[in-house]
Amino acid sequence: MEVHVKSPFISAAVRAAAGLCLPVLLALAFVEVAQSPTVTGLPAAAVEGSNVEEAIYSPPLTSSLERVELLAKNERAVNVPVLMYHYIRVNPTPNDTLGLSLSVSPEDFEKHAAYLAKKGYNTITPTHLIEGIRGRQELPAKPILLTFDDGYQDFYTAALPILKKYNLKATLFVVTNLVGKPNYVSWPMLHDIVQSGLVSIESHGLDHDNMTAKRSDLLTRQLVASKEVLEQTLGIKVNAFCYPAGRSNSIVEAAVNAAGYQLAFSTRYGRVHEPASVFSLPRLRVDGGSPYIERMLGFQ
Ligand SMILES: [Zn+2]
Repeated sequence: MEVHVKSPFISAAVRAAAGLCLPVLLALAFVEVAQSPTVTGLPAAAVEGSNVEEAIYSPPLTSSLERVELLAKNERAVNVPVLMYHYIRVNPTPNDTLGLSLSVSPEDFEKHAAYLAKKGYNTITPTHLIEGIRGRQELPAKPILLTFDDGYQDFYTAALPILKKYNLKATLFVVTNLVGKPNYVSWPMLHDIVQSGLVSIESHGLDHDNMTAKRSDLLTRQLVASKEVLEQTLGIKVNAFCYPAGRSNSIVEAAVNAAGYQLAFSTRYGRVHEPASVFSLPRLRVDGGSPYIERMLGFQ
């Protein structure tokens, strides 16, 4: 039997090889790893961070046998930068260094949008990302995600007009019990945001509480109730979770999976998304003090 291997997908070949012995499957796996530009055997690089939001969790390396099993299911690691923003505002308190770090000015954000558009980046949704990792959907050239944590009102007033101007997709992680509070988006704003067709609304929990400190029933409630209120109020499907303050562990990740989410984002640094880590995906923090995304993206 002759097997033609085509990069980046070898789905047909791997499916055909499903009945073959392990050495053949192993050989196919290595062919894909060697050929595909999006597959890497390396874990996402961990970077030391002084910010309290940096997660300490780092997933273990998958064994070569596990890797073969993943590839046999068409799953693959993908290299997709996921930019992490918080406020899009001029930092109101100049001496507040954390506030400065979390605040990218509207002027800088528009520079980012113009840069991404000029360089041919394609903004995608969390659902598209997980479909790409699962091997169920092709990713476009130069895929990227723009994510905004916490659901601040300036997403609606400052970021959304820029996203519309440059036709960029984004993801807003909402803390549902904070909707309508001062400085946070309201439900009517969220309806407008959904209407734009550019923004995926996803969950950041009910209260922004530390998920690793929750009793299991309360943890489940945070995950299930925040998802349900977004889905029922806005008529959308919520697939992604974002850990408040980046805090997660294997128990929390299992609960996120059980609550019906397909993927979850951490604050761990990196841009390679492994199938074994879909509930702890890394991101690239955009620091308002040095908001140079062209450097993060390697001037590509
Ligand atoms: Zn947050």
